[in-house]
Amino acid sequence: MCKKDRLTYESHVAKSSEASRAASAESSDTQVTEFDNQMMRHAIEQAKLAADEGEIPVGAVLVYNDEIIAWGRNQSITKLDPSAHAEMLAIKQGTMALGNYRLPGTTLYVTLEPCSMCAGLLVHARIDRLVFGAKDAKTGACGSISNIVQDARLNHQIKLSSGVLTEECSLMLSEFFRLRRAKKKALKKGEC
Ligand SMILES: [Zn+2]
Repeated sequence: MCKKDRLTYESHVAKSSEASRAASAESSDTQVTEFDNQMMRHAIEQAKLAADEGEIPVGAVLVYNDEIIAWGRNQSITKLDPSAHAEMLAIKQGTMALGNYRLPGTTLYVTLEPCSMCAGLLVHARIDRLVFGAKDAKTGACGSISNIVQDARLNHQIKLSSGVLTEECSLMLSEFFRLRRAKKKALKKGEC
């Protein structure tokens, strides 16, 4: 990611964190349960692993019959792969776990609103329900800039719940960028 892109990404995540905080009591298509919160905590653990690896902290878990069958975390930098988003990796692992290229009856939990690439994949994979934490005001394609997962023109629509453990998911992102900025500043000082 070039410097300009990083700054753009940081600013929109910060904006989306503010938006998410403002909309903490937002409505969802499906009722959010304590089980949803538990699953989101597992997604948050994945996001923390991504942060430890220097990746933007986004994590996901895929649930079938109340069990986690697959998981993923952002690994775009590590894998030199712009498509290596948490959702993408969890879905690929999920198809192997179920031995099916489609994933009916599954719920995907992800800490950040999916982008258009991932939202398209979720429709192709026929997942049943999507639960996400923080909104992404600039690239979120599940209610922010567009809503691919519920577009009536497509042949599959996904039940959607947003705002699950939003505060925790947003803070993790803002803290990651804050630390990264501090590190860069320290490096610059060292160079002078
Ligand atoms: Zn994505």
